[in-house]
Amino acid sequence: MTRPTIDEKTIAGVCEVLRSGWITSGPKVKEFEQMLSALFGGRPVRAFNSGTATLEIALRLAGVGPGDEVITTPLSWVATSNTILTVGARPVFVDIDPFTRNINLDRVEEAITPATKAIMPVDLAGLAVDRDRLARIAAAHGLRVIEDAAQSLGSRWDGRLIGSSGDLVSFSFHPNKNVTSIEGGCLVMNCDAEASLAEQYRLQGVVRSGTDGMDVSVLGGKFNLTDVAARVGIGQLEKLEEFTLARRDLAWLYFELLESAEMKELGLRLPLPDFRQTNWHMFQVVLPDRRISGGRAAVMEAMKAQGIGTGVHYPPIHLFTLYRGMGWKPGDFKYAEEIGRNILTLPLFPGMTSEDVRRVCVTLASVIRSLTVQAS
Ligand SMILES: *Cc1c(COP(=O)(O)O)cnc(C)c1O
Repeated sequence: MTRPTIDEKTIAGVCEVLRSGWITSGPKVKEFEQMLSALFGGRPVRAFNSGTATLEIALRLAGVGPGDEVITTPLSWVATSNTILTVGARPVFVDIDPFTRNINLDRVEEAITPATKAIMPVDLAGLAVDRDRLARIAAAHGLRVIEDAAQSLGSRWDGRLIGSSGDLVSFSFHPNKNVTSIEGGCLVMNCDAEASLAEQYRLQGVVRSGTDGMDVSVLGGKFNLTDVAARVGIGQLEKLEEFTLARRDLAWLYFELLESAEMKELGLRLPLPDFRQTNWHMFQVVLPDRRISGGRAAVMEAMKAQGIGTGVHYPPIHLFTLYRGMGWKPGDFKYAEEIGRNILTLPLFPGMTSEDVRRVCVTLASVIRSLTVQAS
């Protein structure tokens, strides 16, 4: 469904880092952080070795721990709510809006309790959650906002680049994201004090001073990014705009083809056509519920047989065994469940051609037609 585009200049840059004698966290991480900070209007940024680590550190900075609740969406990569559990808090899921497929902000306030510490929204497929409403809800209730923006690097809300405003904003640079550092992530923060605490959490809580001074006052872990990874990230970040535009063109073509008369009758639900603001991290259709023989799996297998990879992003988190064991059950979040059952990610990455998109659409149409259960 996706494939990173790594140019020769980046590959040569990685070789230089490998030959330099400094391969773990060093000057390239600093350079990467500075580039990111410049992108986000000068806000402090620190890089970590995964998006998951970044979310965990954001939760720690927000003071989230045992006994606290964090409001989030059930339709995300499981890392989102796993990190809430990791810091000892409890995720409180709020069902999605079926059109945006993101957390339904109309339902957030009723989920707030005295134990609520933070809201963690996710911009699924890059489509931004309403940042103005989020900020209003958070301010009215004294909550932190930890934006899981793993998928929305390059997206905007009301013209503002995600990360350039807001509270704590977490990105991932996993290879399936729009910009990769192989593995990695970064957190955008509000002030330098927060950034230096994040540095402590990143590496064993260590603070150095003078020539030989070292102290540890908080418990940190091992979450630092390597210079090799940072060099990949630098080469990728230079291409952010180019990647976003390439994705947008391909997404535009998907709409054009899938909205044609003969495709419309397939009953696919398309994403919101937010061309001005979305980074098109993914192009996801929702298949008609229970009308396809063998369901989504049959569609995926038939597409694969034609050499086209598709994916599922995501099954609803609350129905995983771990989460059922904590009390969640089918029926809890009807939209997340229906969409989680039928959502299908089509191939979309900057290296694709329009011919590729055409072939995906033609193949998808013929696969769905051949599997559709005739209502009689
Ligand atoms: C990718 C992703 C993460 C985790 O990032 P990693 O770098 O894989 O740890 C978290 N949340 C969402 C929504 C993601 O898509």
